[in-house]
Amino acid sequence: MSAPSEKVFISPGRYVQGANTLSRAGHYVSQLGQQALVIADDFVWKMAGRALSDSLESSGIRFERAIFEGESSSAEIDRLIQQGEVLKADVVIGFGGGKTLDTAKGVADRMKAACAVLPTTASTDAPTSALSVIYSDEGEFESYRFYNKNPDLVLVDTALIVNAPPRFLASGIADALATWVEARAAIRACATNMAGGQATILGQAIGEKCEEVLFDHALLAYQANQAGIVTPSFEAVVEANTLLSGLGFESGGLAGAHAIHNGFTALHGEIHELTHGEKVAYGTVAQLILDQTPQAELEEYLDLYLALGLPMTLEALKLKDISDEDLYRVAEAALKNGESIHNLAYPLTPDQVVYAIKAVDVHARAYMEKLGWE
Ligand SMILES: [Zn+2]
Repeated sequence: MSAPSEKVFISPGRYVQGANTLSRAGHYVSQLGQQALVIADDFVWKMAGRALSDSLESSGIRFERAIFEGESSSAEIDRLIQQGEVLKADVVIGFGGGKTLDTAKGVADRMKAACAVLPTTASTDAPTSALSVIYSDEGEFESYRFYNKNPDLVLVDTALIVNAPPRFLASGIADALATWVEARAAIRACATNMAGGQATILGQAIGEKCEEVLFDHALLAYQANQAGIVTPSFEAVVEANTLLSGLGFESGGLAGAHAIHNGFTALHGEIHELTHGEKVAYGTVAQLILDQTPQAELEEYLDLYLALGLPMTLEALKLKDISDEDLYRVAEAALKNGESIHNLAYPLTPDQVVYAIKAVDVHARAYMEKLGWE
């Protein structure tokens, strides 16, 4: 455990990104171990399991595939550890979306095995970090689980990721746009980052660069994704969503956006159909409002979010008829002890959080009207 006044920066051992890098997975994994537990859900395995199997086999790696059941919960991690122990795996490979990867990290940590993370979407910044978000089996946020080290390998195949629905890329952009909004607020308040120390200059620079890349390239990348083509802008945004956002939030710090996201997971109903990034997008604008962001700047964010089809109204968040009682449940969950919202430089009451959630809807509607959308 580092002292809160120390600067700390952490990162994965190796990050590899490019079109068709999956064919090189065996080469990189062979540097980590020879006996692999591969965690993937059925959908991902059907789509790309063959390419990964071929690559592992050609490098002489023995492996067994474990089926990921859909939730990065304590029970799921325990179940997969048992399978890994029977296999005597020395490397755990997570192959899939954010929850698959978070589960693989938890399994590798407890088994003291090497960890390789192969994302199939650029929808969250889970791949590079030394932590997992643990949910209940019903999908409600429970806690962050921290590990001694980041994944040993993060391997990103952009030719695979470009086949994922553009909605996933947009979600990853939203998760990545939260990075600098939260990190700069946490840094301003001298709050500790996710690595347990103060942000380094590098941690700060990564967060800033992440946002710059997204404002410059996010829409171009989204269009490329819609057409299924890997362009330099697409590569840049995949890197921003995965590497820059991952390093930026972990070594910069989280604040209001993710706490409000976590608050939303306490609700039942249709909101669970939304992705992590979609809820984070709404939480980010709520934090910008709490931060007293000037109108012109707020509208730059709204403009990008709306162009990417991200939910900026309560209706789009599937909360059209939400009661005040439920909004207060979200606020209370966001304000729990230990939540990252307390990294903001100012204290907050549940009332203020509820007003901010309502204000996102109000300002987004006014902006859409200004654009002639409504
Ligand atoms: Zn996130």
